[in-house]
Amino acid sequence: MSRAALAVNGEGSGAGALPVDVAQRRLGQRREMLVLQALSYVLGDIVLWIYAYAGTVPLTIPVSFLLCAIGLTGLFAVLSEFGVGDRFEDHFLTTPQSASNIVVQLGFLLAAPEIGYIFLSVVFVIFGFASLRMTSREAIVLWALTGTAVAAIFLLLKTPVALPIATTAEWLAAAFSFFVTIGQCAYVGLFGSTMRKSLHQRTVELRSAYLRIEELAQTDELTGLPNRRSIVKMLDDEIARGKRGTPCAVAMIDIDWFKRINDSHGHPAGDEVLRTVAITVFANIRANDRFGRYGGEEFLLVLPDTPRDEAARIVERLRAMIAGLDWNVFAIDMAVTISAGIATLAPNDCSDAILARADRALYAAKAGGRNRIATDQS
Ligand code: GH3
Ligand code: MG
Ligand code: MG
Repeated sequence: MSRAALAVNGEGSGAGALPVDVAQRRLGQRREMLVLQALSYVLGDIVLWIYAYAGTVPLTIPVSFLLCAIGLTGLFAVLSEFGVGDRFEDHFLTTPQSASNIVVQLGFLLAAPEIGYIFLSVVFVIFGFASLRMTSREAIVLWALTGTAVAAIFLLLKTPVALPIATTAEWLAAAFSFFVTIGQCAYVGLFGSTMRKSLHQRTVELRSAYLRIEELAQTDELTGLPNRRSIVKMLDDEIARGKRGTPCAVAMIDIDWFKRINDSHGHPAGDEVLRTVAITVFANIRANDRFGRYGGEEFLLVLPDTPRDEAARIVERLRAMIAGLDWNVFAIDMAVTISAGIATLAPNDCSDAILARADRALYAAKAGGRNRIATDQS
């Protein structure tokens, strides 16, 4: 999306649209950048003062350079404090800021070609730093404009671009200037790698947040079991596998008289019962079996590679286990039982069909007196 479109769409349209903490963090980052820019100008100006002291350039050069530095940094500081950049995707206003800084350097290259290397080397630093934030299109345009401007200045110049080191003062200025420029280049590199690292960190955090959201979307909050959508999806996967020849059984498990449990012992006790049934079944099934909360007080158990008789044995064992638990720890006189309906996979079955048969079997188990299991062929 282009920056103009972002502004029109209102994404970051004005500092007011940004959460306060984000606006503050951005302002802090911009201030840091502007302090670094001001520092670079001060160091650059020191070099010019030394050259002026050496008599290589007139005094007007360091003075006007200082004024340009103050004017430009001040202008962007004001824009930053008013959050003008927050209207754009790049709140640093990298392109206009680097372009105007390059214009200043090239202006001084034209004004003082006798120390022109100083200004040219700063153009490299500005460009290196700016291209970390610019889009490729902006970088290409700025590159083309800067290159053309440098070429034009070279054409215009009568004196050669130089870096005098004849006297001690000149040597000192040149050495200091390159000392600073090399440090700035290193800073640009380090800054780029820090940006990459923090981006990588953000990606890792986002990925784990996404996984967590995905996990939550598949989990029943009360029991921690897979929810209905998730367990039915597991059944679908099992059916797809079952079509390749392995038998598969499902058991629809329903707590008996659960409404009465809620009515006599309260809803929180009912929730405890749901959790206890869930954990008891979950702890006593095989690693490949899938168990989820189908809804309310109904659970679905998917038993891969399990023929009907074996499924019936497994579910009967679970039924007996639930019925045998000491439910009095939750409430005096509490008794909890389950009924289950078992269905096995038929050729060309879909999940709806097998679930309907399991449900019919469950209905038969209920009709038969509850606390029992029934199969779709019993
Ligand atoms: P049956 O033996 O025929 O299954 O009777 P039942 O009382 O278990 O079945 P019914 O469908 O009449 O009642 C189910 C109850 O389950 C009603 C509903 O309030 C309760 N229930 C559903 N979800 C929850 C839950 O998350 N927590 C609690 N505590 N109760 C729930
Ligand atoms: Mg019930
Ligand atoms: Mg029910």
